[in-house]
Amino acid sequence: MEKREFQAESKKLLDMVINSIYSQREVFLRELISNASDAIDKLYYRALTDDNLTFNKDDYYIKLTPNKDTRTLTVTDTGIGMTKEEMENNLGIIAKSGSHQFKKENEIKDGHDIIGQFGVGFYAAFMVAEKVTVISRSIDSEEAYKWESTGPDGYTIEPAEKEEVGTEIILYIKENEEEESYDEFLEEYRIRQIVKKYSDFIRYPIKMDVTESKLKEGTEDEYEDVITEETLNTMIPIWKKNKSELTDEDYENFYREKHYGFDKPLKHIHISVDGAVRYDAILYIPESAPYNYYTKEYEKGLELYSNGVLIMEKSPELLPDYFSFVKGLVDSEDLSLNISREMLQHDRQLKIIEKNINKRIKQQLKQILTNDREAYERFYQSFGQQLKYGVYSDFGQHKEVLQDLLLFYSSKEKKLVTLDEYVERMPEEQKYIYYAQGDTVERADKLPQTELVKDKGYEILYFTDEIDEFAIRMLMSYKDKEFKNVSSGDLGIEPDEKEKEEEKEAAKEHEDLFKKMKEVLGDKVTDVRASKRLKSHPVVLTADGEISIEMEKIINSMPD
Ligand code: ADP
Ligand code: MG
Repeated sequence: MEKREFQAESKKLLDMVINSIYSQREVFLRELISNASDAIDKLYYRALTDDNLTFNKDDYYIKLTPNKDTRTLTVTDTGIGMTKEEMENNLGIIAKSGSHQFKKENEIKDGHDIIGQFGVGFYAAFMVAEKVTVISRSIDSEEAYKWESTGPDGYTIEPAEKEEVGTEIILYIKENEEEESYDEFLEEYRIRQIVKKYSDFIRYPIKMDVTESKLKEGTEDEYEDVITEETLNTMIPIWKKNKSELTDEDYENFYREKHYGFDKPLKHIHISVDGAVRYDAILYIPESAPYNYYTKEYEKGLELYSNGVLIMEKSPELLPDYFSFVKGLVDSEDLSLNISREMLQHDRQLKIIEKNINKRIKQQLKQILTNDREAYERFYQSFGQQLKYGVYSDFGQHKEVLQDLLLFYSSKEKKLVTLDEYVERMPEEQKYIYYAQGDTVERADKLPQTELVKDKGYEILYFTDEIDEFAIRMLMSYKDKEFKNVSSGDLGIEPDEKEKEEEKEAAKEHEDLFKKMKEVLGDKVTDVRASKRLKSHPVVLTADGEISIEMEKIINSMPD
């Protein structure tokens, strides 16, 4: 048995893999399982072209065997195996990916299922193991070999015994150190957890013998350990299933399983795109906001999978802020991942997906708005503010997406209406979309300024959220109709000749009084005038400037 050294660069790289590439140790299992799945895939591809080989899906599986006594965790697969040479090349040279080469050699353009590409994942095992033993027999060889390494100082290869084709990887789990415990990687529950998290949708069964304490038959208080073989992974992800096979309940169960929220989702969106960037997505529009939604703690994002393997738990790039309430996942074969698989190399693909998803969410919301107004209002109750912030931020550049999703309370309809509904109802001569601001609908309704507009038979939108007027100012207009605060000076409602005359007369009559008032009020007002705009109120304040009185109040109350 000869000891071989890793190549110099490999040593450095190995050190990096163990110490710095991955942010979480647990991903070692994801990497080994991915390799096992690749190895089975390779056998499958081989069977496609080799008539002597048949591929019987049931014979192919991955098995995990933790053993606390020997402190080992073994990952066994029934895949294609490795020859001695392949062991040297693929396990002896770090950053050499046999899988990458396999794809190239076999010209598998559609070999997107094969996960491996960088040739470093295997070494993640050294994050948790002090020694790794690989026993493998290739489909092309009568002999089996054993590869063994304790880390950067090198490895050995020697002949070994193995009946079946495939690979067995034995991890000798590290002893606990003062502050670090590795025991968790020998615990059944923990292994199940890691598999569920990262490898739930590997297409082959990942099995484990699970020990359960059960009441012994024929006895009342004697227990015995019963071992059953369990398949840990779901295998077929729900998003790969045909939409027609799935019920609303399936989607709701998945929502809960994934802990996206405690509520019942309002709607789900299932997308499968076979375009420039291929991806599947399941998105949910929740009905109620999580308790921390409008705080800094809330993190938006979708889960990101590459080929069924979890890459990122929350990818914020996939959602614009104004749709930050959307939950769900995206799975794509076309992502260019970086070496740790924790990040993407470039986000071109993500950008395309984001744009696409954005469109679909908007469509879905519009659909709910049209077809199920009541549900939409419930949604709006929770997330309307966020949509309005969306209009306000970035100087209204999202207005095309968002303006049709907004609702405001109407003086006429006595309920929430859309801008489109408002404009549709406008009498021909009406110039503006009128709005009045107040803490509540009642208060806005009682403003002296609303009277004149209502008398004219025009509808008023009541703004009760602080953000409302700011957002509307960003929109500026809707369908070529400008917005107008009822408390602004020029309402675009012309007084008739008689009224003008009366106003003039009143101004003359009370000239001294107005002068006096102006003196008393000083800088607080620019002018005091007689007005025909009042009926049941004696005085009204109007703003002639760029911002309304209400906006001024909000701005003044903001911390500097
Ligand atoms: P990658 O998966 O990115 O290619 P890894 O470091 O994870 O890189 O694995 C290196 C290579 O070792 C693989 O490409 C493959 O050729 C080989 N290999 C690893 N695990 C197995 C296995 N279980 N069965 C067969 N070959 C394997
Ligand atoms: Mg790999």
